Amino acid sequence: MAAQEAVEHKYVYGFSEGNKELKGLLGGKGANLAEMTNLGLPVPPGFTITTEACKAYLATGQEPDGLAGQIEAYLESLERGMGRRLGDPGDPLLVSVRSGAKFSMPGMMETVLNVGLNDRSVVGLSAQAGGNDRFAWDSYRRLIQMFGKTVCEVPGEEFEHALDETKRAKGTQNDLDLDADDLRGLVGAYKKIFAKHTGREFPQAPREQLDLAIRAVFESWNAERAVLYRRQERIPADLGTAVNVVAMVFGNLGPDSGTGVAFTRDPGSGAQGIYGDYLANAQGEDVVAGIRNTVPLQELEQLDKKSYDELLGIMARLEEHYRDLCDIEFTIERGKLWMLQTRVGKRTAAAAFVIAGQLIDEGLIDLDEALHRVNGAQLAQLMFPRFQLEHDFEPVARGIGASPGAASGTVVFTSARAVELAGEGKSVILVRRETNPDDLNGMIAAQGILTSRGGKTSHAAVVARGMGKTCVSGADAIEVNVPAKRFTVGGRTVTEGDVVSIDGTTGKVYLGEVPVMPSEVVQYFEGSLDPEHIDNALVRAVHRIMTHADTRRRLAVRTNADTAADAARARRFGAQGIGLCRTEHMFLGDRRELVERLILARSDTDRQSSLAALLPLQRDDFVKIFREMDGLPVTVRLIDPPLHEFLPPLEQLAVNVAVAQERGEDVAKEEALLAAVRRMHEENPMLGLRGVRLGLVIPGLFAMQVRAIAEAAVRVTREGADARPEIMVPLVGAVQELETVRAEAEKIIAEVVGDSGVEVLIGTMIEVPRAALTAGQIAEAAQFFSFGTNDLTQMGWGFSRDDVEGAFFWRYLELGIFGISPFESIDRDGVGRLVRIAAEEGRAARPDLKLGVCGEHGGDPESVHFFHEVGLDYVSCSPFRVPVARLEAGRAVVETDGSDSR
Ligand code: ADP
Ligand code: MG
Ligand code: MG
Repeated sequence: MAAQEAVEHKYVYGFSEGNKELKGLLGGKGANLAEMTNLGLPVPPGFTITTEACKAYLATGQEPDGLAGQIEAYLESLERGMGRRLGDPGDPLLVSVRSGAKFSMPGMMETVLNVGLNDRSVVGLSAQAGGNDRFAWDSYRRLIQMFGKTVCEVPGEEFEHALDETKRAKGTQNDLDLDADDLRGLVGAYKKIFAKHTGREFPQAPREQLDLAIRAVFESWNAERAVLYRRQERIPADLGTAVNVVAMVFGNLGPDSGTGVAFTRDPGSGAQGIYGDYLANAQGEDVVAGIRNTVPLQELEQLDKKSYDELLGIMARLEEHYRDLCDIEFTIERGKLWMLQTRVGKRTAAAAFVIAGQLIDEGLIDLDEALHRVNGAQLAQLMFPRFQLEHDFEPVARGIGASPGAASGTVVFTSARAVELAGEGKSVILVRRETNPDDLNGMIAAQGILTSRGGKTSHAAVVARGMGKTCVSGADAIEVNVPAKRFTVGGRTVTEGDVVSIDGTTGKVYLGEVPVMPSEVVQYFEGSLDPEHIDNALVRAVHRIMTHADTRRRLAVRTNADTAADAARARRFGAQGIGLCRTEHMFLGDRRELVERLILARSDTDRQSSLAALLPLQRDDFVKIFREMDGLPVTVRLIDPPLHEFLPPLEQLAVNVAVAQERGEDVAKEEALLAAVRRMHEENPMLGLRGVRLGLVIPGLFAMQVRAIAEAAVRVTREGADARPEIMVPLVGAVQELETVRAEAEKIIAEVVGDSGVEVLIGTMIEVPRAALTAGQIAEAAQFFSFGTNDLTQMGWGFSRDDVEGAFFWRYLELGIFGISPFESIDRDGVGRLVRIAAEEGRAARPDLKLGVCGEHGGDPESVHFFHEVGLDYVSCSPFRVPVARLEAGRAVVETDGSDSR
C-alpha cells in the first residue's frame, strides 16, 4: 500500500535528523543528543521515538500504526552501522531505553540499560569483551534489575537484598569484589525474584525486551509520581514523553573505563572551572547512586589524559554552542570517550546572575539575553538573609525549599506553644508532620515552619509563601511525635527547646543555630556596596543587569509606603513614586482618642471638632512623606477600612464595662463605645461601610483628609521641594460616587492651593468588578485609575482572602483548579480580563488617563508581565519587591520583543 505509506506519520528520528530546537517533539534528551551528533561529537548512535507516538499510544492504549515498522527500520540501520545485531548470541548489540520529556521530569521512568542481553547473548558479550565474563554477567544482572524495577514494577529492594546477600556471603561490601561466578549466581537469584513478582520468566527475546521497555516509558507519563510532579511544577499534562534508544557503551569494562557527570561551570556560585565527578569501572548511575566513592573530575587527567583533554575541549565547545552553562553525562570505554547527555544546566539564583554576567564579558550573549536568563524569583531569593557559606553544620535532613529564607529558632510542636514562646521574644520553628488551618496562629508567630510531609503546594508551603515565612516542607527523614514533643532524625532525638535552623531555599535542615548573614544584594540596593569598587561577581552582575532592565522597561515602578521611612528605603531601591500610601495608620496610636470621639459624635459640631484636631496631625504625616518623595508622585488613598476597626473588640469592651461597673467607676464612655460597636457590627465588613461609602456617609471625613494633603503639598512646595500628590478614592463602583467626592475635594483644593503652583490629581481605585465594567463612565471623573487587584480578586472570585487561603486553597491547588493562588499571581483569564476591560474603556474615554496597579500583584513576576502587556503605566509594590518589579518590567520588554527564548 504505497499510498498509505506515503502519508504515514513520522514517529522515529535518527540522531542525525533532529536538533536542539525540537524539544517538544524529541524531548530534551533526544533533541540534545541529536544536536551533539550534528556537532560531530562522539555520541553513540541511536534514535528517538517522538512524543507524538507516546500521545497516540496513551490515547488508544496501542502503538500507533506504522510505529513498529519504523522502529524496525531504524533498529536495522543501527545494527548495520554497528555491525552487530540486537541480542545476537555471538556478538550482541545492546541498547539503552531512556525516557525524556520536553521538561526534565524526575517523576518519569528511569532508564533501562543493556537491553538485548539474555542467557545466550551474555556469552557473546563476554567474548566481545575479550573473555571478560565478569563484565558480561554484571551487565546482565543490571538489565534484569532495571527492567524488573522500571518496566515490571518488581520492588527494587528485593534486588538490592539479593545483591547485599551475595556480597555478605563473599565477605565484602564492594561490588567490584564480586567475580563472574558470584554475578552468574546473582542473575539466577534475580530471575527468581522477577518470576515471583511477574508470574512469568524474564523475557529472553531481545525485541520483546525493547518493545516492553518502550511501552513502559510511554506509560510512565501517566504514573502517579509524574502526574503529581507536573501539577506541582505546572507542566502541561498533555505533552507526552519521547523514548531514546541508544547503542550501549561500557564504562564497566575495567580500570581504563568509567563514567562521569560534569558541569561547565559551578552551578552553585557560577565560578568558572571544572566541576564534576568520575567513577572508574562503572556503569550509568553508579556515579550518582553513591555506591562507591567518586573522584573529582580533575583526577581523570592522571587516569586518562587523552580522554580528559578531549572532554575539556568538548565542554568548551558545548558552552560556546549553547551559550550557557551545560551539564553533561559521559562514559569512557577502554580509553574512548562517549557523550551520553547534555542540557543547559540548572543553577542557583546567585549562579544565574554571575553566569549571565560572565557570558556578556565573553561576548557570548548580549544584555537583552542576560536579562532574559535571570528572573525576579531568583532576585527575590538573593534578597533574603542566608546562612553563611562556610559553617560547620551538616544538614540532618533535606526537604523541599517551600518558601525561601534562613531561619533559626527553638523547636515547638504546637501552635499554642509557638505563640507563647514568641510572646516571650523567642524565635521559634514550628515543626509538624503537616500543618492545617488550626496552625495558623503558630505559623504567624514562628520564624519558620518545618514539616515532614507535603510538597510545594501543601498547606504549610502555600500559607508560608503567602506570609513570606521561611518554610521547609516534606523533610521525610524526620519522624515527628507531637504528643511526646519531639522528633527523631537519623537516630537523633530533638525535643522542644532545642534549636534548629532551616533553609527555605535549599530545603536543608540543621541542628543548632547556623550563623546568618545579610544579603549583599540588599546592601547593594541600599547603597552600602559600590559595585564598581568591590570584588564581588554577584553584586557586579546584579548591578549590570538591573541597569539594563531600567533602560529597557516601559513600566514605571512605584512603591506602597505609608511612612517617610518606608518611602526613603523604597526610593533607594529604585521606586519612582508612591503608588499607594494608606492613611489608616494616621488614625491609630495616640490618635485613637480622637477617632473614638469622631465615631461617637452626637452633633455636627462634635464631629467637626475631632476632625479639626486630626487635621494637623495628618498634615504633618503627609509633609514628611512629600519631602522624602520630592519630585515624585505620591498617591494617597483616602481612608478605606470600616470605622469599627478602629474601636476595641467587642469582648474587650464588654469586659471593661463589667470591671468598671464592679468598681463603681463611671462607665458612660465605655458603654457608649460598646453600644457603637454593637450598632456598627457588620456580617461582611469587607462588603460593608468602607471606602468611598464612608466619605459619602460621614460628613467632613474625606474633606479633612483632602485638606491635610493639599496643605502639606503647599507647605513642602513653599520649602522649595516638589510635591506631587494624587488623591485616590477607594472602592468606587459607580461614577456618581466619585463625582460627589470629587466636587467637594476640588473646592477644598482650589481654596488651599491658590497660586502655589501645586497640582493635585484626583483618581480612583478600580477594585470592585462593577467599576471595571463601567470604567468608561468612571474615567470621565478620574484622572487616574489604580487597580486594587487584591479586592478585585476577592470580589471577582468571591473569595474572602483571610478565610480561604488557609482553609482550602491547598485542595484547589491539588486538584489543579488553579496552578497558583490568584492572590499570588493575577488570574489572567478572569480578574485580568476585568483589568483589561477597564484599561481599554478608561483610555478610550480619557486618552491621558494614568493607569497603575497597587495590589500585591504589582511585585509578582508573572503579574508584572501581564500588566506590561495590558499597557499600564506603572506597578506599585512593597519596598522589597521594587527591584523584582524593575527587573521583571525589563524582562517583559525583551520577551515581547521576541528575543530568543529557551
Ligand atoms: P536520567 O535522565 O535519569 O539521567 P539517563 O537516560 O540519562 O537517565 O540514563 C541513566 C544513566 O545511564 C546515565 O548515567 C547515562 O549516562 C547512562 N546511559 C544511558 N544510556 C547509555 C548508553 N547507551 N551507554 C552507556 N550508558 C548509558
Ligand atoms: Mg535518573
Ligand atoms: Mg541522564
